[in-house]
Amino acid sequence: MKAIVALGGNALTGKERKADIEKQFEATKNTAKSIARMIKNGWHIGITHGNGPQVGALLLQQKIAMQYVSPMPLHVLGALTQGEIGYIVQQCLLNEFRRQGIKRKIATVVTQVLVDENDEAFKNPTKPVGPIYSDEEAEKMKKQYVMGRVENGWRILVPSPKPITIIEADVIKQLMEDGVVVIAAGGGGIPVIERNGVLEGVDAVIDKDLASQKLANEIEADILLILTDVEYVYLNYGKENEKALEDVSVEEMEKYYREGHFPPGSMGPKIEAAINFIKNGGKETIITSIDKAWDALEGKTGTHIHA
Ligand code: ADP
Ligand code: MG
Repeated sequence: MKAIVALGGNALTGKERKADIEKQFEATKNTAKSIARMIKNGWHIGITHGNGPQVGALLLQQKIAMQYVSPMPLHVLGALTQGEIGYIVQQCLLNEFRRQGIKRKIATVVTQVLVDENDEAFKNPTKPVGPIYSDEEAEKMKKQYVMGRVENGWRILVPSPKPITIIEADVIKQLMEDGVVVIAAGGGGIPVIERNGVLEGVDAVIDKDLASQKLANEIEADILLILTDVEYVYLNYGKENEKALEDVSVEEMEKYYREGHFPPGSMGPKIEAAINFIKNGGKETIITSIDKAWDALEGKTGTHIHA
C-alpha cells in the first residue's frame, strides 16, 4: 500500500513553530517514530511538508544581510528549505530505522511544481511572507517583490497559485515503488511556470496540502494522510457545539465546506485536498494528529473522508 503523508508545521518545528535547529530536530525525532510505525507495517511512503517557519527565517537573514549579499528569489529559498528539512527528516528517520532494525532506504527529491502563469492568483498577490521591512528597505525590495503595507512597515506579498502537476512525480513514484521512503514537494514544491517547453522558477507559494494531494494522485497513492495538530476535523470548531467528524463522504464534506466550517488559512485547504484526492481516484483521505497516525490508519481515530 502506498501513502502520501503530509506533515504540518508542528510535526517539524513543534508547537511554537519556530525554525530553531534544536526545535526542528526535537520535533522531527518524534515524528520519525510515527513514520517508522507505518514502515514497519509494510507501507510505502512519500513524505511532504510545509516550510513556513524555515522560509521565514531565511527571509529575515536576507533582510539583515541585504547590504552585503543580494537577497535570493523565493523559489530558490524554497529549494534551500527542501534541502534543509529533507536532511533533518532523513537523519531522524534513519536513526529511528537503525534503532528498530528497519532496513529501508530514504531520499529527498528536490521538487518543482508546475503552476499556470495566467492563474488568477498572480494578478493579486495576497499571502504575506517573511519579516516586516522599513520604508527604505521596502523600496529596495520592490524591485523584486510586491510589498504590502502592514501596521508597522511592509511585508512581501506573494501569490498562491494552484498546483497543476508535480514535475518529478514519475521519479518519486518509481522510488516509492522500489521501497524508498521519499521526502518530496516540501513547502508545497518550488513553483515553476512553463513557456515553450522551458521551465522557470517564480516567486509564489503553493499550498502544501494541495501540492500533497496532486502528488498523491499522480503517484496513485491509496491513502492521503494529512497529519496536523488536531486529532479530528470538527464541525463548529472551537464552539460549544463542536462535533468531531469520524467518517464522512465527499458529498457531506462539500456541504460542510460550503457552510463555512473550514477557514481558508488552516483547515480549508486540507478539506479541499481531501475532496480532490478522492474525486481523482484516491481511496481515502485521513486527517489526524502526528501521534495518532498509526491508530488512524487502523481506523481507530481521525477523520476519514471517502467516496
Ligand atoms: P498545518 O501546519 O498542519 O497545516 P494549520 O494550522 O494550517 O496546520 O491547520 C491546522 C489547524 O486548523 C488546527 O490547529 C486548528 O486550529 C485549525 N482548524 C480550523 N478549523 C478547524 C476545524 N473545523 N476542525 C479542526 N481544526 C480546525
Ligand atoms: Mg497549514
